[in-house]
Amino acid sequence: MHPPVAPLIGVVASYHRVTSSSPGGEDRLFAGAYEAYLRSLIHAGALPVIVPLELAPAALRGLFDRLDGILLAGGSDIDPILYGAPAVHSTTSATEPERDLTEIAITRWATEEGLPFLGICRGHQVANVALGGTLYQDIPSQLSTNIQHDNPGRPLDYHAHHVRLEPASRLAQIAGLTDLPTNSRHHQAVERPGQSLVITARTADGVIEATERPASPFFLSVQWHPENLYPHDPAAQALFKSFVEAAAEFRHERLNILAD
Ligand code: MN
Repeated sequence: MHPPVAPLIGVVASYHRVTSSSPGGEDRLFAGAYEAYLRSLIHAGALPVIVPLELAPAALRGLFDRLDGILLAGGSDIDPILYGAPAVHSTTSATEPERDLTEIAITRWATEEGLPFLGICRGHQVANVALGGTLYQDIPSQLSTNIQHDNPGRPLDYHAHHVRLEPASRLAQIAGLTDLPTNSRHHQAVERPGQSLVITARTADGVIEATERPASPFFLSVQWHPENLYPHDPAAQALFKSFVEAAAEFRHERLNILAD
């Protein structure tokens, strides 16, 4: 018998260039994730671990095989070449090639293995691209909308818009609502959903705000930032908790198979 152990959730790192504070000093790369993701996972009962970038494929797979769930966090734009599009807008921000490759590999493995997956903001877009979907590269220049999807300078939990959830979706079941107020900090959006993904939420302007993969035990992604709503928002808490429960269940089933 195994005592209950908190599920291990991999959070793929992002790089931040840290400028040296000493004159002539060398800049360094810092690999990590915003604390709000880690804190929300911990509060929901998981053990988050940072997945480093630039691991050799076999090493990355070895790490993946020890995880019970994957969270892909927010960040910068995905290289458009990965969904077969030229970069058409100067507003497409600097890309993170090492992170793109790591996250896309991990997302595909997660779909193959049924590993619980939660994508947030960039992670929602990565899930889509990894499964063959495309993105709008810049909402203000490609779509007609009067909703502010990007809200620089506002508090992280700023209520930017409502999203309408598909009543039959897993997400609506979890949230217990079909009309959800959310924050919003994105200038890109899902255009054509990836294979086997279904659209589960939109804003009133039609922008896709969430998708899920019904063929997976738990594969959800959202365009907003529940990690910043978590302290005050029952729907955000329920999303993290049901993800962590799915990861605990995945772990439990795998241990049972190993014990047979
Ligand atoms: Mn939005």
